[in-house]
Amino acid sequence: MSQLAQRRTKVLVIGSGPAGYTAGIYASRAMLEPILVQGIEPGGQLTTTNEVENWPGDTEVQGPDLMVRMETHAKAMGCEVISDYISSLDLSKRPFVAKADSGTTFVTDAVILATGARAKWLGLDSEEAFKGFGVSACATCDGFFYRGQEIVVIGGGNTAVEEALFLTNFASKVTLIHRRDELRAEKILIDRMMKNPKIEPLWHHILDEVVGEDRPKGVTAVRVKHVDSGEITEIPAKGVFIAIGHAPASELVKEQLELHHGGYVKVMQGSTETSIPGVFAAGDLTDHNYRQAVTSAGMGCMAALDAERFLAEHNAAALLEIEPVL
Ligand code: FAD
Ligand code: NAP
Repeated sequence: MSQLAQRRTKVLVIGSGPAGYTAGIYASRAMLEPILVQGIEPGGQLTTTNEVENWPGDTEVQGPDLMVRMETHAKAMGCEVISDYISSLDLSKRPFVAKADSGTTFVTDAVILATGARAKWLGLDSEEAFKGFGVSACATCDGFFYRGQEIVVIGGGNTAVEEALFLTNFASKVTLIHRRDELRAEKILIDRMMKNPKIEPLWHHILDEVVGEDRPKGVTAVRVKHVDSGEITEIPAKGVFIAIGHAPASELVKEQLELHHGGYVKVMQGSTETSIPGVFAAGDLTDHNYRQAVTSAGMGCMAALDAERFLAEHNAAALLEIEPVL
């Protein structure tokens, strides 16, 4: 496609996680000829994990494989899947206008936002300094580099426990550092973790500093602080995996749509309608509570059905006659 191209569509789906691809499948089957823009993480968060054991119909499936299957499914139904990143979105009037990094402008009657969530960081200077040099938020991506090494994982949710378990495939020892003494991960995962001799939990501690060296650049230890006493302890570690949750990717719309719970796009109860008619949102972008692949996919379906009804009511065919807006 040439630079500065303009594309006209009835439905633009932004995001290629379970919510986006499911919206693409349903919108295609409703003959809406959707365009889906994948973003910088084609397949979304599940591409950063390995075994997924709670996707209905698959006792166990690899996250990246599942997402390739969803993409193939969406394309087979007629969804146009584009590798690009939406850098701005104007929702002030319809048709809406989205601009992509490649220079392409998308003019669309309805938008389905499915931009999901991104890993949170602690915000320490030393964390930033060693990102990519021992500090990571993706065990699946980086675990392999730590064969036979000692690793720490920060956090107490499903991600932290799953990462700790996965990292035992490589590491000699994994210390799971959590600020409380109770994990919010699922019981089945906690059970597996407690039975794993390579994992040692360290309760009531937070990461205070990542310690490392410059030549060659890398992590050598972490300094952790007891949350009550403030006592600092140094733990040797070559890898530091931050797994403290995810924040909704709502930057594109934060000044335009109603948000709640610290940045999640607010949708009407039982629907995917946002505060602007014609703009629908699905998946982790909207969901501070469940944040699962299956709930995101369910919302993607709802968003496509909501968009279809909206377009039927607003006579999309007539809208397509309107001159394109740049
Ligand atoms: P995401 O998967 O977050 O996808 C967001 C998409 O939006 C990405 O494709 C991104 O490229 C795109 N995007 C963002 N901004 C833009 C933009 N400006 N322009 C274009 N595209 C954009 N859930 C389970 O049910 N089972 C599990 O076993 C499980 N394991 C997990 C393991 C890990 C390590 C993590 C991090 C999460 C896990 N989850 C699991 C949660 C699950 O991955 C999420 O609930 C689900 O992926 C959310 O889907 P989504 O479609 O809303 O968004
Ligand atoms: P999460 O459930 O929000 O857990 C974040 C963890 O990090 C919590 O234990 C929290 O501590 C801790 N934390 C947060 N901020 C911190 C800080 N500044 N310093 C120290 N610790 C901090 O996030 P998640 O584990 O990434 O999971 C996100 C969603 O994805 C969840 O809905 C989860 O169920 C889903 N998911 C599912 C699976 C699965 O189904 N197998 C796997 C992975 C993720 P507190 O507990 O004290 O708040």
